[in-house]
Amino acid sequence: MTDQTARLLIVGPQGSGKGTQGVRIAEAFGIPAISTGDMFRAAVAAGTDLGNQVKTLIEAGNLVPDELTSAVVADRLAQEDAADGFLLDGYPRNLGQVADLDAFLEARGEKIDAVIELNVPREESIARLTQRAQEQGRTDDTEEVIANRLGIYERETAPILGVYRERGAVDTIDGVGSLDEITERIVAALEQRGLTRRALA
Ligand code: ADP
Repeated sequence: MTDQTARLLIVGPQGSGKGTQGVRIAEAFGIPAISTGDMFRAAVAAGTDLGNQVKTLIEAGNLVPDELTSAVVADRLAQEDAADGFLLDGYPRNLGQVADLDAFLEARGEKIDAVIELNVPREESIARLTQRAQEQGRTDDTEEVIANRLGIYERETAPILGVYRERGAVDTIDGVGSLDEITERIVAALEQRGLTRRALA
């Protein structure tokens, strides 16, 4: 237990680098990085019931139903390592999930400390996705599915930023630059909020 909490969200379009930065930031603050996309892909790879339920949706780039997604996240956040903080990547992804997360946190007397919005121009994120498709061969990185995912981001996910912006929780970060530069920008913004990175042991 520490006296400081860091409950963070990272939000940005596909190809914004939020997965990579999320892991780096979580490490700097000594909290687990929790990616719903990674959890779902792991479930698919392991052939669990959850994996079988979500496989077709993920391959088409469609969202997994809120009820299922929010239950998976609630289970994960209830684990001991998330007691003092966490960084969520890929959740909440629409207004319904914001309401689910609010209810979960409120019941525990907790709240989100900061929302990192990673901004990248559309051409840049498409270029990065195309490269990732070649390198990693993710089944949802085909041109058609990428277009579907970006459309869902713009219609359903971008609006969640308005909610958190009203709460004064959003730090908008320029996501173009070297990995280290971007990490430093995010850390600087979080430090401005009084969140301190974990002292190195
Ligand atoms: P990306 O941000 O590049 O689309 P993710 O790894 O975040 O990749 O998500 C991959 C897929 O997992 C999504 O297209 C969707 O099918 C599913 N998914 C991930 N997070 C959520 C969520 N919060 N709600 C519903 N579906 C989700």
